[in-house]
Amino acid sequence: MSRKVIFKTYNQDQLSLLPPSYDDLVPANHPVRIVNMIIDNVDISALEESYRGGGTSSYHPRMLLKVIIYAYLRNLYSSRKIEQALSENIHFMWLSGQSKPDHNTINDFRGKRLQGNLKKIFHQVVLLLVEQGVVSLKDIFVDGTKIEANANRYTFVWGKSIKTSKERIRKQLKELWSYVERVYKEEQTIPNTPDFEVIDAAKIEDTINQINEALKGKDIDKKIKQKLNYAKKNWPVNIAKYQHQEAILKDRNSYSKTDTDATFMRMKEDHMQNGQLKPAYNVQASTNNQYLTNYTLAQTTVDTTTLKDHVNNHIENYNQIPKTLTADAGYGSEENYTDLEAKEITAFVKYSYFHKEQLDKKRGKVNPFHPNELHYNKETDTYYCPMGQAMTNIGSYKRKTKNGFEQEIHRYQAQNCMGCSLRSRCHKSKYNRIIERNYNLIRLKSKAKTVLISEQGIAKRKQRCWDVEAVFGNIKHNMNFKRFMLRGIDKVNVEIGLIAMAHNLKKYSLAI
Ligand code: SF4
Repeated sequence: MSRKVIFKTYNQDQLSLLPPSYDDLVPANHPVRIVNMIIDNVDISALEESYRGGGTSSYHPRMLLKVIIYAYLRNLYSSRKIEQALSENIHFMWLSGQSKPDHNTINDFRGKRLQGNLKKIFHQVVLLLVEQGVVSLKDIFVDGTKIEANANRYTFVWGKSIKTSKERIRKQLKELWSYVERVYKEEQTIPNTPDFEVIDAAKIEDTINQINEALKGKDIDKKIKQKLNYAKKNWPVNIAKYQHQEAILKDRNSYSKTDTDATFMRMKEDHMQNGQLKPAYNVQASTNNQYLTNYTLAQTTVDTTTLKDHVNNHIENYNQIPKTLTADAGYGSEENYTDLEAKEITAFVKYSYFHKEQLDKKRGKVNPFHPNELHYNKETDTYYCPMGQAMTNIGSYKRKTKNGFEQEIHRYQAQNCMGCSLRSRCHKSKYNRIIERNYNLIRLKSKAKTVLISEQGIAKRKQRCWDVEAVFGNIKHNMNFKRFMLRGIDKVNVEIGLIAMAHNLKKYSLAI
């Protein structure tokens, strides 16, 4: 016998006695309430002051800020999708008070209004989290990750090819002048040689005019005539273009034509597996307890040169110096160790070969030819090679790193390596072996090693993996943020700030 089927009442025209409120539909402790509560407690007066007034009324910046941060928290990065969510999603409608800014308003607010204002708001949010006791600014974990720019990967400009092209023009100009000299050889009155050192549009135009003048009325080769016409028409324009490109490059090796602030970098996430470089930004981040405490953007591919500015940025924004800093071997340079020492920050920063050094020590593997293993007599300032031969100081020199940091290098040379039976294992030089010693770096590395192998150092090294690296994992894989939406370093700075805030508030909403 079949049982009677009962359906629940379905009536789309049902009216309520009391009008329903969206507030009833948003659960307590929902992330949207956290965003609302935190952003209600930050000072946005600088942002408000950026409005000039007059004309039509504007959407409230606090509402727009909440909406954009919550959108990033929900992995919505496109302004059109945010506009759509404001009409379809109850949480967005509650947050915006049913205001419905369109995608242009959202984009303008994100790309223009937030420029120069968001970082201050981000720091206020971090300080609120510090007050809540979930974050500390005393111990920070630093690392960098590359995020693809919103730029075409085939629109590159390479510093090297600009140099080659400029050099080619200089060479061809010299060749043209050699032709003039050949023509004048018989007359024994060669015109004054132009200066080929400075190459700019005006100079090239001048030189070509000078060559044309010198060859006036002469019987010239047809090919030379064609080349001179080509040079006059194209070279000054090309040189002006190269100069403009060099001004954009500054000290970088490349940039993309669609986002001139983006630099070509090798990415870890190479989905095409072809080692192709992509236009990107190097995001430097500090974390504590998996919360982002600071971020800066670098246009260099290596992390080493970025640490000083990143730490200075932290000090400037929070007006306090962290007590400890943990980072991987990419940051272990003499310059960084010196800077952290001067700031009295305990550096749990590995140097290259730290792990190999520890592993070799564990296995009892010692390379007797390594400069660190050679016997050193401090009084006579002499090293002794494995053959027992004295390696005396042959002088020192200073060199500067890319950042202008000065290093002092001392050199020692063996007296005579000829006929030494250990030579093939000792060195590959044709002459007597020379070793170079940087005593400041040796001291700093030894200091770093002491803290790294301490109990606290081992704990910090372990935490680094699940602290800062986990944050990058969350941003790239859970939040699916692998490419910036905006172009230009100022706008990209806003975007990474929004991502950082969304990450922090999402984590906080799960923690409370
Ligand atoms: S090759 Fe030269 S430096 Fe090396 S062990 Fe022999 S003598 Fe010493």
